[in-house]
Amino acid sequence: MNYKLTLGWLYPDLMSTYGDRGNIIILQKRCEWRGIKAEIDPITVGANDQQLKNVDFILMGGAEDRQQEIVGKDLETGKDKILHELIEKGIPGLYICGAYQFLGKYYKEADGTIINGLGIFDVYTENPGPNHPRLIGNMVVDSSVIVSEAEQSIPQETASSSIVKVRTLRNDEILLGFENHGGRTYLGKEVKPFAKVIKGFGNNGQDGTEGAIYKNSIGTYLHGPILAKNPGLADYLIQTAINIKYNKYINLDPLDDSLEEEARNVIASRLKLQL
Ligand code: GLN
Repeated sequence: MNYKLTLGWLYPDLMSTYGDRGNIIILQKRCEWRGIKAEIDPITVGANDQQLKNVDFILMGGAEDRQQEIVGKDLETGKDKILHELIEKGIPGLYICGAYQFLGKYYKEADGTIINGLGIFDVYTENPGPNHPRLIGNMVVDSSVIVSEAEQSIPQETASSSIVKVRTLRNDEILLGFENHGGRTYLGKEVKPFAKVIKGFGNNGQDGTEGAIYKNSIGTYLHGPILAKNPGLADYLIQTAINIKYNKYINLDPLDDSLEEEARNVIASRLKLQL
């Protein structure tokens, strides 16, 4: 069977800072290398609703506050409701930094301007202003939490009806990336963090949490691009998207990730960590 995924790339012209566009290229390549057709569909201001409704996966990157204001207004024209429905349906997505903030309740800029969020994650974000430093630097986090989340929500490989653990994050449950944000995100009781901070600031530099996860939607502060440095996460997203689209477990062929592993080890040794 010829499998095909439509990768929805939200606001590529407005929200794609610090290498975020690399993530969509990586997803497409990792699909193609396995014979899975992956079509990138850029969706920006003015795009029609049907385009968004058709996607099998969503990527949305980070942005400056000014771009977030433009995107916030466009989302309120109806894309917010569609996005909500897709996320509730389990369509997987990766929402980075400014995009992650959109999935929360609101983002308050340094000057007090409020940008409304979709309220998918029980989080809110506030930028405390120029007297507080931006949270910048390399970040290392432990995302093992998402394996258990995946077990509940995607069709699993089954052997005589027993559930077999999803094999997607391999040894890189330890994720590497780069963060650069003024906003501090605070988690409510209803939300699960995506990962634990090993090095860096994460959500707010205080509580040791990083990002949030709901169904198959991941919000994170990891730029980098995150999927170049963490091929296991890229495969997790592909696996989730394809299983959901075809409503069965589809085996992904292994790829040679030796270059990615080498890159990860270089970063880890710079940070004096062993992976
Ligand atoms: N503008 C937001 C902030 O500073 C998001 C930044 C980003 O996406 N890198 O917090």
